[in-house]
Amino acid sequence: MKVPFYDLEKENKLFEKELTASFKKTLSSSWFILGNNVDLFEKEWARYVKTKHAISVGNGTDALILALKALDIKQGDEVIVPAYTFVATAFAVSVLGATPVFVDVDPKTHVINPLLIEKKITKKTRAIIPVHLYGNLADMDEIMKIAKKHKLFVVEDAAQAHGALYKNKKAGGIGDIGCFSFYPSKNLGALGDAGITVTQNKKIADRLKSLRNYGQIKKYHSNEIGVNSRLDEIQAGFLYIKLKHLDSQNKKRRELAALYRRKLLDLPVIIPEDTKNSQPVHHLFTIQVKKRDTFIKKIERLGVQVLIHYPVPLHLQKAYRKMQFKKGSFPESERIADSTVSLPFFPSMSWEQLNYVVRSIQKVL
Ligand SMILES: *Cc1c(COP(=O)(O)O)cnc(C)c1O
Repeated sequence: MKVPFYDLEKENKLFEKELTASFKKTLSSSWFILGNNVDLFEKEWARYVKTKHAISVGNGTDALILALKALDIKQGDEVIVPAYTFVATAFAVSVLGATPVFVDVDPKTHVINPLLIEKKITKKTRAIIPVHLYGNLADMDEIMKIAKKHKLFVVEDAAQAHGALYKNKKAGGIGDIGCFSFYPSKNLGALGDAGITVTQNKKIADRLKSLRNYGQIKKYHSNEIGVNSRLDEIQAGFLYIKLKHLDSQNKKRRELAALYRRKLLDLPVIIPEDTKNSQPVHHLFTIQVKKRDTFIKKIERLGVQVLIHYPVPLHLQKAYRKMQFKKGSFPESERIADSTVSLPFFPSMSWEQLNYVVRSIQKVL
């Protein structure tokens, strides 16, 4: 038996008829940029996340960059980010000429440790970007409290947490701005690049709408220097269809995660804990193992495809070598990066496939 890490073909096959019909409709409309599909999807997404506004953009990284830009974050400013996340979280800060300030993560939940944030706050700090990593929630109550006390903005990186709940609030809808990616393998994935920002604040929403479209307030009248980062009509049509199935797919992810957890209980692996008072959406299912290289070599030989999210914490990325961080600066992030393995995991994964992965782990360990 072979178990792929993710079966995108199987996932999208479920919606093939609807997706094809949507494509044909957009094709015959010949309206490809900022039209009805985008309007409709933005309205639906705002309703889903329970925010007043949703402003779609080209991808999740642009969502973060434009969100920070809409808050006037610029050179000389500092923004707090977890040391352990996908690089885009920190790159968004760096692209604007501001400085990402890393904070270590909680060894149990793998999301930013709120107890370590305050000592990193300086006069230059303007915002915090909590990341809901693997679909597990950052401790938003603590983070919002710190932000309020120090008058900082909170930009949620919810690129892995579509539909996740924190005390009945949707991930992304809690901070000043929430950012999502619809990269094809995310919990809600387009058939290409796509992203969106959400906010309750009308001023921020207007600014984001202008920034994604050359800073235009109306056609050929630009208020400020903006970029071209728009969700296109074809992708918006696809996303509108797939959004209807997001909750049921997240439910499947939760069932599979519970099953993995139960079956791995007696094995020498560590599974990250869910954040208290939250309902995660399990973008990934990760475990920590000893001697990871041997583990991966052996399990792949049995036909189980695994990946590492992520092998290098941000402070040790070559891209940030100028900051001159040494090994040991963020011990928890480093420990996770050295031991984590992402197991095969996708909503249409069969119990048979999952059992085969578990049996293979038993054999290998
Ligand atoms: C995927 C992802 C992004 C970037 O999204 P893109 O659409 O690929 O640009 C940012 N942050 C996190 C945590 C992600 O997982």
